[in-house]
Amino acid sequence: MPRGPVHAFAGGAAGAVVANRLAKNEAPLFQLLETVAGLVGGVHGGLAPDKLEPADTPSHRGPFHSVVGAVISGVAVRRWAPEFLEQYRHDLTALREDAEAETNPLWRLLKWILVLCLHAMVGYGTGFAVGYASHLALDGVLTPSSLPLLTSGF
Ligand SMILES: [Zn+2]
Repeated sequence: MPRGPVHAFAGGAAGAVVANRLAKNEAPLFQLLETVAGLVGGVHGGLAPDKLEPADTPSHRGPFHSVVGAVISGVAVRRWAPEFLEQYRHDLTALREDAEAETNPLWRLLKWILVLCLHAMVGYGTGFAVGYASHLALDGVLTPSSLPLLTSGF
């Protein structure tokens, strides 16, 4: 079975690439920030399934490693993520314009910090989801026991 470092590497790489592509219309600084956050989120997402269901036995894989869980999550992401991300980026642009127009130096600084945090959050969230998916894909393809339909033994 793939070990932690394999999942961390695959999750980090996949998370960084997808976060970078989703930020392609952002300014270079924000794109870089989302890519780095996607890398970190991808490492965490790639390791998450085995944190939730530690690989201490060959049949450790439960709902967090299941085909049904993956399909439901995939359908939910496909259904709601594009709309959510479009609104999120729209609001983030408005906040950035507000920060640029701010005349009070303290408020300006705080608004810019918020803009950076929100860019990092969307990159991290994207990376985490992609990293988690990469873990299930690796476990499903590279292990003889593959993934259970719903939980261990079923
Ligand atoms: Zn696993």
